[in-house]
Amino acid sequence: MKVPVVDLSHCSLCEGCLEVCPSVFRLNDARYIEVVELTSYPEIEINEAIKYCPEDCICWEEV
Ligand code: SF4
Repeated sequence: MKVPVVDLSHCSLCEGCLEVCPSVFRLNDARYIEVVELTSYPEIEINEAIKYCPEDCICWEEV
């Protein structure tokens, strides 16, 4: 299955992914972007988030 992954070392916390795809990305208590655990991920919305991430730090990973 494909899951989205955020490279936190490049994330600038612009919160764009939270706006584009709030069902998948969230800001945790430590103020890092986290990927919510889901049984399947909405590909279209996540591809939008990937496209708009200014740091290019979201990608798909095969697990
Ligand atoms: S859009 Fe990219 S840079 Fe912005 S908060 Fe999300 S992962 Fe971080």
